[in-house]
Amino acid sequence: MPIRPLAPDVVSKIAAGEVVERPASVVKELVENSLDAGASQVNIEVKAGGMSSIRVWDNGVGMPGDEVDLAFQRHATSKIASLADLDSSTSLGFRGEALPSIAHVAEVELVTRTREEMSGTCVRVRDGTVVERGTRAHPEGTAVTVRHLFRNVPARLKYLKSPSAEAGQITALVSHYALAFPEVRFSLVVDGRRALQTSGNGKLRDVLAEVYGVQVAQAMLEVGRPGEEGGGGSAVSGYVSPSSVTRANRSYITFFVNRRWIQSRMMTRAVEKAYEGLLAVGRYPVAVISLSLPPQTIDVNVHPAKREIRFAQESIVFNSVYGAVRRTLMEKMPVPEIGTAPPSQRPVAGPHFVAAPINVASTGMEQAAAPPPVPLEPGSPPGLPPLRVLGQSGNTYIVAEGPDGLYLIDQHAAHERVVFEEVLAQQARRGVEVQSLLEPLAIDLSLGQEESLRTGQETLAGFGFAVEPFGDRACLVRAVPAVLAGGGIAEALKEILDRLQEEPEKVRVEEKVAITVACHSAVRAGQRLSHEEMVGLVRQLEKAASPRTCPHGRPTMVHLSSGQLQREFGRT
Ligand code: ADP
Ligand code: MG
Repeated sequence: MPIRPLAPDVVSKIAAGEVVERPASVVKELVENSLDAGASQVNIEVKAGGMSSIRVWDNGVGMPGDEVDLAFQRHATSKIASLADLDSSTSLGFRGEALPSIAHVAEVELVTRTREEMSGTCVRVRDGTVVERGTRAHPEGTAVTVRHLFRNVPARLKYLKSPSAEAGQITALVSHYALAFPEVRFSLVVDGRRALQTSGNGKLRDVLAEVYGVQVAQAMLEVGRPGEEGGGGSAVSGYVSPSSVTRANRSYITFFVNRRWIQSRMMTRAVEKAYEGLLAVGRYPVAVISLSLPPQTIDVNVHPAKREIRFAQESIVFNSVYGAVRRTLMEKMPVPEIGTAPPSQRPVAGPHFVAAPINVASTGMEQAAAPPPVPLEPGSPPGLPPLRVLGQSGNTYIVAEGPDGLYLIDQHAAHERVVFEEVLAQQARRGVEVQSLLEPLAIDLSLGQEESLRTGQETLAGFGFAVEPFGDRACLVRAVPAVLAGGGIAEALKEILDRLQEEPEKVRVEEKVAITVACHSAVRAGQRLSHEEMVGLVRQLEKAASPRTCPHGRPTMVHLSSGQLQREFGRT
C-alpha cells in the first residue's frame, strides 16, 4: 500500500484510544473534570459496567454557554495557556483531550450552568461534532452523560471484560478519588445499587471506613504530623496499617501526589522498606499515602492516562515517604498481643510468624496426621521416592531419608501442596467436605471485597463456603470447607475475595481459591509435629500429583544426595 494520510475521523478514534481505554477511563476523566471545577459533590451513575451509560454530575463552577462547543475541540482547555503554566499547575487535567476523545467513541450529552447564567446550556455530540444545542433549567454545575461507549469501535469493545468486572474497576477508581478528596462528597450508583457514598466531611479515616471497612479504618495509623515537612518542600500524610493488618498483594497500597492518584514503583519500594522486618514474607500493608510536592519538581505529562509521573529528585521522595512511614510505625504501632517481642528485638526469623500466629492445638495439626499412615505401596508413586521420617528440625522442616540421601521437607509448603490438590479434587467432583459453623461468623469487608463477593458467591459455594452479604461492608459465613475449620477463616475469605478481583492471569479462578484455602489451613512453620503427624504428611505428599513444589511454585523439599554427602565428607 502506498503511504497515505489517514482520514481525520480515523485519526481521532486512534488518538481517543490513548485516553479512553475502557469505561473506567471515561469515569476517571469526567470525575477529574468535576474536581478541577471545584465541585464539593460528585455523583456517578453507571449501567452495565459503563458500557450502556455513564453519568457524572457535579456542583462545580460549570462552563459558560459560549464555551461549551470549545470544550469538545481537541486540545482546548481552560486549565493552562502555555507549557510554562504546567510547571505551576495543580489541576488534574491540562491536555484538553478527554471530552473530545470520549465524544469520538460514544454519544455524549452535556448540560452545564455557571452561577452568572440564568439557564443552563445543553449539547448533544455525535462523532465528535455538536449536533444539537439548547438551553434548559439546570443547577449550577455540570452533568455529562455518555452512552453506548465504543459502539462505533468494535475492536475496542472486544477487549472489554464482563460488565461486573468493568463495574469493579469503576468502583475501585471512584474509591481512590474519594480517598484523595475526603472533603468531597462522592456517590457511586452501579445499576441502581448504591456502591459508595462518602460524607465529604474531610476526614480521611471516615472514607477509609467506607472503602476498606470499619475494622481496618480503626486500626490504621496516621502518618505525619500537621505541618511537618520532609525534604525539598515535600509533605507526606495519610494512613498505614499496623503489622496486624496485612494483605496478600500490593493492591491496597495507594499513592497520591498533589492529589493525583498515581502508580509508582519507587514509592511502593519506600513503603515496603519502611515495613522491613515487620511483615511476614508475601504479606503487604494497607497504605494510603498522600505526598505534596512543589509542582515544578514533578512532570505529570509522561503517561497518556497520567497514571505515572516523573520526579525531579527521586531520592528526596523515596526518603520522605520511607521516613514518614517508618517513624509512624515505630512510634504508633501497638505492641503485638501474644508473646511476640517488640519489632526491634525480634529475631530475624521472627517476623515470619508474627502475622500468622501459630495455631497451637489447631485442627491444622490433625490435618497433617489424618488420614492414618498408609503402608508404602510397592513401586512408590511417580515423583517421590519412598521416604523414612527421621525427625523435625526447627519445628519447620521434616528430616527424612530416601534411597539416595537426605531430604529436608518444608512442612508448611508440603502440607499446602497436599491440601491444595485435595481441595481442587473435591471441588471438581462436587464433593467438598463442608463444616457448618455453630455460630455464623460476621466478617468486615472492604468495598472491593464486597463487590467480589457479589460476583464470586457461586465460585465460593463450589468450595464449600456458605457466605451471604450482611448489611454494608460485611458478610455472614455459615459454612466453610472442612479443612479451614481450624481457624483463619476470616483471613482466608478476605484473601480469596481480594484475589478474585485481581486481573485475570494464567492462574484459574479455582486454583486461586484453592491456593488460598491451602495456605490458610496448612500447618505453619514453627509448629511442632509428632512423628505420626510427620509420617502422615509425607505419605500424603507422596500421593500428590506434583509433590516437589507448593502451589505458589516454591520447593517443598531440598535433597542432599548420597553423592553430595560423600563429597562433603571427603569420602570419594
Ligand atoms: P482538560 O481537563 O484537560 O482541560 P477536557 O477535555 O477534560 O480537558 O475538558 C475540556 C474543558 O472543558 C476543561 O478545560 C474545562 O474548562 C471544561 N470542563 C470539562 N468538564 C467540566 C466540568 N465538569 N465542569 C466545568 N468545566 C468543565
Ligand atoms: Mg479533563
